[in-house]
Amino acid sequence: MIYSDHIPEEDLALYALRSLAPADAAAQQHLNRCADCRRKLANILGDLSLVSLTVPQEPLPAEARERFMRRLRAESGAKNVETTSPARTQPPARSWNLFGGLGWIAAAAALLLAAYLGNTAHDLREQLDAQRYQVTQLSTQVSRAQQIFDVLNSKTAKRVSLTEVKAAAQPTAHVIYESGKGALIFVASDLRPVKANKTYELWLIPANGQAPIPAGLFRPDVNGTASVVLPPLPTGVDAKAFGVTIENAEGATTPTLPIVMSGQ
Ligand SMILES: [Zn+2]
Repeated sequence: MIYSDHIPEEDLALYALRSLAPADAAAQQHLNRCADCRRKLANILGDLSLVSLTVPQEPLPAEARERFMRRLRAESGAKNVETTSPARTQPPARSWNLFGGLGWIAAAAALLLAAYLGNTAHDLREQLDAQRYQVTQLSTQVSRAQQIFDVLNSKTAKRVSLTEVKAAAQPTAHVIYESGKGALIFVASDLRPVKANKTYELWLIPANGQAPIPAGLFRPDVNGTASVVLPPLPTGVDAKAFGVTIENAEGATTPTLPIVMSGQ
């Protein structure tokens, strides 16, 4: 078959889509000698390759192509009957003209293809969105773990211990003792109250291992503070430690355990 006419654009599109099988050989012959049609085909193929970049390379479903080719053959037969009618004076249509009137089929095929590609693209987009979401979630978790690690290992971070705000302050006491003079000053704060019939008693525990020496009775005031100033003590007794016990109101000569406060 020889074609003197150019291949109509919609037929070139079908050729590009490999849906023009019956005329492939003829189209190929024309394309071999016609630069114009080759350029148009290249343009169409360029468009198609752009489309194919966005979707996986999957062939048109076989039944869709079959359906299309059946309609093409039916239309082609009808056209042949019409063009060979005696009422017509024009010469019998060349093969390309058979397709010339089929622009609507090409358009329908293009729509079918577009819808097919569109659905595939839509599915792909959904998969991509789901994967992007997972990647975002993962990277958020990694970044959070990194932040935790950084804070825990920071050398410049300030470290502060917090305790219950309303907790009672711990009792504290300080002794200043001059053994050579037997002089002692004792100041305590945040002491817990004692019962009315009880008292705190301060003891000097000698370094030489002798028995503890009573060093004064004291009761905290309403603010929890108390002091013992210059109690009667022997001179020249080195102190190993000091201790506080709770005794009966009149005091004791030997400490009653437990020792509630001590220091050395
Ligand atoms: Zn041509």
